[in-house]
Amino acid sequence: MRLVSVAVPVPFLDALSYNVPDSHPGIPPLGARVRVPVGKRTLVGCVVGHDAVLDAGTVVRDLAAVLDEQPYLPPAIIELCGWVADYYVAGLGDVIAAAMPPGSRREDASKTRRLVTLTAHGAETARLPTETRTPKLTPRQREALDILASAPPGLHSAALRDRGVTADIIRRLATRGLVAIHEERDERDPFERAGMAVSRDGDRRLTAEQESALERLAGLTTPARFSVALLHGVTGSGKTEIYLRLAERVCAEGRGVLLMVPEIALTPSVSALFRSAFGGRVAIQHSALSNGERHDQWQRIRRGEVDLVIGTRSAVFAPLPNPGLIIVDEEHDSSYKQEDSPRYHGRDVAIVRARSAGALVVLGSATPSMESYQNAATGKYTLVTLERRVLDRPLAAVSLVNMRDEYAEEGPDVVISRPLAGAIEQRLDRGEQVLVLLNRRGYATAVFCRQCGDTFDCPNCTVSLTVHRARGGWRARCHYCNYSLDVPKACRKCAAPYLEKAGFGTEKVEHQVRERFPRARVGRVDRDSVRRKGALTSLLSRFAAGDIDILVGTQMIAKGHDFPRVTLVGVISADVGLGLADFRSAERTFQLLTQVAGRAGRGQQTGEAIVQTLYPGHYSIQLACRQDYPAFFERELAYRRGMRYPPMVALINVVVRGRTFENAMETATDIVRRLEPVAGHASFLVLGPAPAPLGRLRGEHRVQFFLKGTRRADMRHALKDVLAGMPEVRRRVTVDVDPLSVL
Ligand code: ADP
Ligand code: ZN
Repeated sequence: MRLVSVAVPVPFLDALSYNVPDSHPGIPPLGARVRVPVGKRTLVGCVVGHDAVLDAGTVVRDLAAVLDEQPYLPPAIIELCGWVADYYVAGLGDVIAAAMPPGSRREDASKTRRLVTLTAHGAETARLPTETRTPKLTPRQREALDILASAPPGLHSAALRDRGVTADIIRRLATRGLVAIHEERDERDPFERAGMAVSRDGDRRLTAEQESALERLAGLTTPARFSVALLHGVTGSGKTEIYLRLAERVCAEGRGVLLMVPEIALTPSVSALFRSAFGGRVAIQHSALSNGERHDQWQRIRRGEVDLVIGTRSAVFAPLPNPGLIIVDEEHDSSYKQEDSPRYHGRDVAIVRARSAGALVVLGSATPSMESYQNAATGKYTLVTLERRVLDRPLAAVSLVNMRDEYAEEGPDVVISRPLAGAIEQRLDRGEQVLVLLNRRGYATAVFCRQCGDTFDCPNCTVSLTVHRARGGWRARCHYCNYSLDVPKACRKCAAPYLEKAGFGTEKVEHQVRERFPRARVGRVDRDSVRRKGALTSLLSRFAAGDIDILVGTQMIAKGHDFPRVTLVGVISADVGLGLADFRSAERTFQLLTQVAGRAGRGQQTGEAIVQTLYPGHYSIQLACRQDYPAFFERELAYRRGMRYPPMVALINVVVRGRTFENAMETATDIVRRLEPVAGHASFLVLGPAPAPLGRLRGEHRVQFFLKGTRRADMRHALKDVLAGMPEVRRRVTVDVDPLSVL
């Protein structure tokens, strides 16, 4: 028997063994796609091993077909997928599926066009008078030759078809050596559509600080030597320019560069800048592209036609042949973490990839994650710091407004405080721009009856429904499962007409901003307003062009944007995230406030930020106002140390789902009982089980427990062993290694 292991896209499944039938001449190489039977279905999988071993008596099935004679996924990527599957306790098939471009499981997904030209023999034949041509040509074949003779550069098969020349006619002419068929890949350019162009200020001089940071990083790019550097630069310190120059140097040495960004649409200037510097040698990989576009780009990368890949999380699997540098911009951003299986962190996978490629990883941020800064503090990473903004522009001055005082003076319905309103007026007078942040979408956070207290909760999830403005009234919607209903005029229980909306989100802020500043042109950016394709790009470019004065939005407006005319940032409720039962809430609050304050004063005029809060004394808010990252890090680390939370220990979160609470609890208790003896032995803790903060989600009950310890490998192996012995519950168990969110 000739055995291969094949990863198939079925959740939680490890690679399966198959026999290569004698009818197939060779063994398909690692990385080749094959069609295999799985249960009653036939699926396209990927060969991941040649060393499959079988227990005696196991029946192996034959491969149904081999789709590639050459590797489709390069060996380095298969190895990386293996690491991801092991580390994140995921099925290899799931990971391989995440690493493949969409459409790759169809047999020929690349959009090829056929260009048909006359061969020399064909051209000669076409020149002969009709009567003397080879007698065997049919009238249609003769006609096809004449058409091609009148179009010397050749014609695409589609154009020929339009003129009545079928694929069959072409094939017959080709077998006679009269025409040649060239497969041409139809490359759609994803940049064109976005319509972004940036001309690069090529001979801009780096500041002294940028220069020395660049030299230190360049010193770490020795081929075949892995290292990680953390580039901690305050907002507006010119990190992008450093990335660009470093990338140019690495490419000049013939090695590839991977630039990872949290979300392409939110950082269009970064991609546009790299695009203008690298021209056609850039490929882009992100989920907003159509499948065909992504596939084309992926193929270009694999064929080695690209020096630089820009992409989001999944670009970490891009088949770039010889990476010498991986840049993870805004490394702290939570969108690098995939929140369904495989639950990998793009930054961490990037580091593993660089380790086996012998490349440099540059993690860039103004607000590094606790994990990365701790690694820099202990010397595992090289720390490179930029303390000043370029051209000595000052950081925005940040002031706090205690909303308790505002409520006392102005009543409980105030959304925009007096100091913020005054500052906005001033900006409007001066023709400058304003960002207003509230990290909560919708109009109101809840509706309830003032008479009987009835609330509108989601029937499937333990959350109250968020109220949105809808055509002709109000709609209450669950932000988790999307359940929604029209808000009635009267209470559903007691029929009293006293339904009240409580709390507020971006829609209400937008509404109030419009009412209070009627002369202002106002826009809103949040997940609801940008649902339509192209809406986000359009809003951001209108803001950049000065057609919007005040942009209201969620954290989407806090990310890497560079809008030089913004001189004021208002933060409506700085403490939105602090109430969550999540040990990272202070870190997230600090990051968000520092980042959004960093959007002000990036041009000629200095910037100001006004932060409204109910907790002006909270250290995350105080230290964000001072934009003092090191002080925040020390303070937060002390808390994490005291509570034994990451980065001081490793954490694995396990959520068990069930139709009933008892069902979920029983399974979780069973798993924990089997883990405990191992845990005592391997010195990690098992905490729980207990109901998850989100006790019900999409109709399922959720119970969770944690593994906590310093040796992650022990924890993972114990969990894997226990779960392997309980295959019947595996589908109801979600394992999250290094969780970012524990709700
Ligand atoms: P960061 O990513 O660190 O927040 P950016 O890279 O966006 O900062 O740079 C901030 C602004 O400064 C951008 O408009 C950029 O074009 C500009 N800039 C960067 N380097 C220089 C320089 N050496 N001289 C002048 N302007 C610069
Ligand atoms: Zn719901």
